[in-house]
Amino acid sequence: MVFRTCYQIEIPKHRLSSRDRAFYAFFAFFALFASFLFLSRLSVTPFTSLPPSTRNRYCIFMVRIILKPKEDIRIRRGHPWIYDNEIAGVEGEPEPGAEVEVCDARGLHVGYAFFNPKSKIRARMYSRTAKKADEEFFIRAFEAAWKWRKFCFGEPAIEKRMSLRLVYGEADSVPGLIVDGFVGVPKLEDSNAGDKLSIAQRAALASPKGLWLSVQFLSLGVEVHKAEILKALRSVFNPDGIAERSDAPVRALEGLPDSVGVLWGSVPERIVIEENGALFEIDLLSGQKTGWFLDQRANRAAAAKYVSRAPWADSPNKAIGARVLDVFCNQGGFSVLAARAGAASVLAVDSSRDALALLRENAALNNVSDRITAVEANAFDYLRDLEKMGQRFDLIILDPPAFAKNRTALEGARRGYKELNLRAMHLLERGGILVTFSCSHWFSPEMFDAVLADAAFDSNRRLRILEERTQDLDHPILSGYDESRYLKCRIVQVV
Ligand code: SAH
Repeated sequence: MVFRTCYQIEIPKHRLSSRDRAFYAFFAFFALFASFLFLSRLSVTPFTSLPPSTRNRYCIFMVRIILKPKEDIRIRRGHPWIYDNEIAGVEGEPEPGAEVEVCDARGLHVGYAFFNPKSKIRARMYSRTAKKADEEFFIRAFEAAWKWRKFCFGEPAIEKRMSLRLVYGEADSVPGLIVDGFVGVPKLEDSNAGDKLSIAQRAALASPKGLWLSVQFLSLGVEVHKAEILKALRSVFNPDGIAERSDAPVRALEGLPDSVGVLWGSVPERIVIEENGALFEIDLLSGQKTGWFLDQRANRAAAAKYVSRAPWADSPNKAIGARVLDVFCNQGGFSVLAARAGAASVLAVDSSRDALALLRENAALNNVSDRITAVEANAFDYLRDLEKMGQRFDLIILDPPAFAKNRTALEGARRGYKELNLRAMHLLERGGILVTFSCSHWFSPEMFDAVLADAAFDSNRRLRILEERTQDLDHPILSGYDESRYLKCRIVQVV
């Protein structure tokens, strides 16, 4: 049997009316124009090879930088820095520090960034969507940063009782801006060095009245937006005064001179803050960095915990309390807490005379001067001397400055960390606790762990890892932005 299907297609015989023809013609023209627009945006690779007239065709609103092929991937994954050698071309003439749109090699939108023609980091991303970095933008960014801190720290932060890093640069979407908020009371003018806090001051600390900001402008983008940033800081945080501490070496890489002073309101010469239940006197205008290292807050408490726990088995000192060595002690954040936790003695070492002067004040404020000895010395030399003298400790804290400031310094940094940790292991009683840090993001956690293992092997010891820690939560760590994960802390028992 044969199956056959037969279709009869009827072709309309009628002709199009002139109105329909006009409509179809218009539609066809519109479709052609739309696809032309679309295709020309896709065909900008490599962008610089196009004539300027074509390049500027869609650049009506904003200066754009066009990335080389594939360079957008890291940026889309969350890294905020665009290096000079990753840019295929710049459309228009961006003002130094101004906002630019960032596009991938096909011309598609990636986000918005601050432009700096003088820096190797040519552009720093601040948003995917917000075109203008005006006062409104900064207000929104600061409110989001504040919301995160409230989420992390809960009520104390809300009640303004806790000193916090309020804005942590790129990790809070404001590239290059650091804002530390210190809550406390001004030190009384008439109190002499070493004086304890007056009863009135102690009472005031129970419900502190003052909030002072210590701010670093570390990129050209935030430098040129200083006025808007100051207004936004005042509107969101309502501080009593704002100090500027833009005296970090990275300013030079951005083509900026140092700048230190009071930016707004009044800033007392010394402020007394409370941290982990202890009192600390800090100097916002001439202390190191912003005046106090807030990132170590939780690590200081973690270290102090081992003073009272005394897990070492064979220490001859067990009955009378731990002998603590705090190397790179700065103003005594670790030392004071260790002494308050019951250490028999704390030997605090730093090369900065000014930091040690503040440490002595802080020891006095907390009534532990009799158990803290401050020594001004180069840590490397001093550790060697202690070893020669046959000194022994139950708990050692090593918190050196960043040894590796870039990739090329990694080998030198490795040697530095190795030497410090090796000496510390020699100085510890068997079973003693080592609290050791690296704050250089270039020096990866793997490298740091390898150094510790090497030092243990060379000193014929083994390490039992008690805690692997990092910076406190007001210094957020973001995926895709490895530089935000900079602080490595290992608390180990050396057996
Ligand atoms: N542990 C401190 C922060 C340390 S910051 C805290 O909890 O706040 C690093 C410190 O190392 C600084 O105080 C600096 O003065 C000191 N320092 C830098 N190089 C040094 C060296 N070679 N010897 C001793 N101290 C040094």
